[in-house]
Amino acid sequence: MASDSSAVRTYLHPGAVPFYLIHLGAIVGVFVVGFSWVGLLAAIGLYYGRMFFVTAGYHRYFAHRSFKTSRPFQFLLALGGTTAAQKGPLWWAAHHRVHHKYSDQPEDLHSPVQRGFWWSHVGWILDPQYAATDTDRIRDFARYPELRFLNRYPHLPAAALAVTLFAVGGWHLFVWGFLVSTVLLWHGTFTINSLAHVFGSRRYDTTDTSRNNALLALITMGEGWHNNHHHYQRSASQGFRWYEFDMSYVILRGLQAVGVVSGVGKPPAHVITGERAPQKRARRPSAGALAAPAARAGDLHAAGEIASRARAPEIGGERPASVGVAREAA
Ligand SMILES: [Zn+2]
Ligand SMILES: [Zn+2]
Repeated sequence: MASDSSAVRTYLHPGAVPFYLIHLGAIVGVFVVGFSWVGLLAAIGLYYGRMFFVTAGYHRYFAHRSFKTSRPFQFLLALGGTTAAQKGPLWWAAHHRVHHKYSDQPEDLHSPVQRGFWWSHVGWILDPQYAATDTDRIRDFARYPELRFLNRYPHLPAAALAVTLFAVGGWHLFVWGFLVSTVLLWHGTFTINSLAHVFGSRRYDTTDTSRNNALLALITMGEGWHNNHHHYQRSASQGFRWYEFDMSYVILRGLQAVGVVSGVGKPPAHVITGERAPQKRARRPSAGALAAPAARAGDLHAAGEIASRARAPEIGGERPASVGVAREAA
């Protein structure tokens, strides 16, 4: 539990003022400008439109490199992500890599288990202590000057969106399309850091508290299959079974079909079933090698194959300590 002074440091500082003002503006604004279907559609369209850039861009591309694309489309993913007003792509992805490296351990920046729901939901993102980008964690993308620019001035695209909406549709479109949509987008995204580690089911015995939650998956275009994701981070698909709807994956498949992105796919079958990787044939089989030893946990880990503890029946009830410490996705 944070002390009063640290709570003040986290939540009450000049940098947090826009966050509160946008909330206030959204709540007061809808009463002032009133309801319209156009306004509601703008809010929903800009919610899901920008959510795609957060989940497919910031998360699946920049943090996990789960698919490939060209430099121009990479820039577009970053630009779209910044319109969500969730800081820059390098900041976002670098912090997310820390989350996977230390999931639900003391070093995890937004673990509800370690520091409570509210901290994991908004505290860590408001706390000035975590405002800097650790470029060492995101060197693979920090080498692009256009990404560094967006990361340095992440408010510009969001502000440009707000101004455009005002220019096109006055206060009405500004309130619904920007203020309401942005507040919902913030909290929709933040549920994955908070609720997706609290409510839902756990298919895979990962070393963290990640859950699969269908409602959160609908809100976040597939990110709610969070236990799947912690189990196998490098997949562009987070819904592993046919009934696990993952809208971002559907769109990415469409973009792959027209040649904009590549490498978009489902995890290997053994990952989905939670089994170990199939054994490769030994080069020089010895007499005692009929039952090949299971691949060492560290091998799987190093290969990024699987980030869950192996299931107990498959390894005689023992849990190798090194499996489940999620690899840093780089
Ligand atoms: Zn992730
Ligand atoms: Zn997580």
